[in-house]
Formats: sequence, C-alpha cells, structure tokens
Amino acid sequence: MAAAQRNACRRLQLPRLSNKIVGMIVTIDGPAGAGKSSAARGVAHRLGFRFLDTGAMYRAVACAALQRGVDLNDGNALAALTAELEIEVTEDQVLLDGQDVSRAIRTSEVTAAVKHVADNPNIRSHLVRLQQRTAHDHHTVTEGRDQGTVAFPNAECKIFLTATPQERARRRQADLEARGETVSVDEVLQQQNLRDQQDAEREVGRMAKAEDAVEVITDGMTASGVIDALEAIVRSKM
Ligand code: C5P
Repeated sequence: MAAAQRNACRRLQLPRLSNKIVGMIVTIDGPAGAGKSSAARGVAHRLGFRFLDTGAMYRAVACAALQRGVDLNDGNALAALTAELEIEVTEDQVLLDGQDVSRAIRTSEVTAAVKHVADNPNIRSHLVRLQQRTAHDHHTVTEGRDQGTVAFPNAECKIFLTATPQERARRRQADLEARGETVSVDEVLQQQNLRDQQDAEREVGRMAKAEDAVEVITDGMTASGVIDALEAIVRSKM
C-alpha cells in the first residue's frame, strides 16, 4: 500500500480531533463531598476504564487565573485565558501548560476562586469539549456536576451519587482532621451548603440528576460498599 493511502487509512481510524464517542461512558454526578472522586476512581480501576475528574479542569483554570493575576470578576478575561491554556487531566496528574499542578489546584484559595470559572458559560462550553475529546476513544468513568446532563447526554450509564448534607459534612470534617486541620462539622456544613447552592443555581451546567440516572445515597455505606454498588450498576448496563 502506498504511503499516502496508509496515512489516509490511519486518519480514518484515528479521528484525533473528533469528539465522537467510541467507548462506553459512565457519568457520576452529585454534590460536593458525596465521595464521587474515590468512587469513580475505584469503579474505573475495577473495570479497566479511564477515570476523568472534570472538577480538576475548572480548578486548573482558577489556579492559572490566580497565578497570572487575572481579575476573577472579568468573565471575558477569564474566558480568553482559558482559550490559551493547555490543560491535560490524566489518571494521576493535572498538567497546566505542561506543569504539574495536581497539588496546587487543591488549595482553599483555588476552591474559593473556582466559582467564577464554573459560572462562566464560555469556559463551560470550552471545557465540555475538552471532556468529550478526552473521553472519545476510551471506556471512561467521568465525574462532575453536569456529565450526564450536558457533557455526555447519551452516556450508557448515568449515576447520581449523593448523601445527606450532615453525612457529607461529617466525612469532610474527618478528612480535614486527618490532615491536621481543625474545623467543626457546623463550619464545614455551612460552606458545603453554600457550594451546593452555587452548583444547583448556576445558569449553565448546573448540578442536576439526569432523568435516566440511577440515584445512589451513600449514607451508612463504606467506601468499598459504594464501589461494589456502582460496579453492579455499570455491569447491568454493559
Ligand atoms: O469536584 P470539585 O469540587 O473538584 O469541583 C470544583 C468545582 O468545579 C466545583 O465547585 C464545581 O462547582 C465545579 N464543577 C463544575 N462542573 C463539573 C465539575 C466541577 O461546575 N463538571
């Protein structure tokens, strides 16, 4: 076969810039502190799927804005910054223009700033395209707020993972205490209620349970019990 023909075949087999999904997509949406990340990572690991943390993308943009002194209240400047950034979210790393920001995106400063990024419709559509491109050629478990509703409305399996506010706050407080941060459950609960409200009320890409999503309420369940339950749901859709 001539080289030109071989290249043409390769191009047909590998539509690198296409967002057409070829693998199975499992979406896991739900509020902050529901344990989505560890559950999504765990179930992806068991099934040999890729895990995609979409919150890390919003955090990476907020982190870049803080590093470069971009005004968080200037939506156009934030969107222009996003268009210039190269963001890569892999299983174990978040790269911003090639630099590892996996830890930097988890600071409380970034958590406080991320709302300005997540509320911006232009940034959301840019990141949704990036999510679709990242997942297009792999079986993927993707985790966020709008994965089953906006990013992957045709996903084969949709899960809405939640727990009561008190249970989520109690778990978060225990995590913080294990990391040496002293904060009361009530304080955590207050901040969490604010984030829940912001996530549920944003105009575009608000957190919502897709009509065809299975709701899992994790109160009283262990971390491995949650993964067992999610694995069973995914397998039932395979
Ligand atoms: O999940 P995580 O807390 O890391 O997400 C960071 C922020 O990004 C959240 O506050 C949430 O509002 C936003 N987010 C979003 N859409 C997603 C994932 C996260 O708006 N798909």
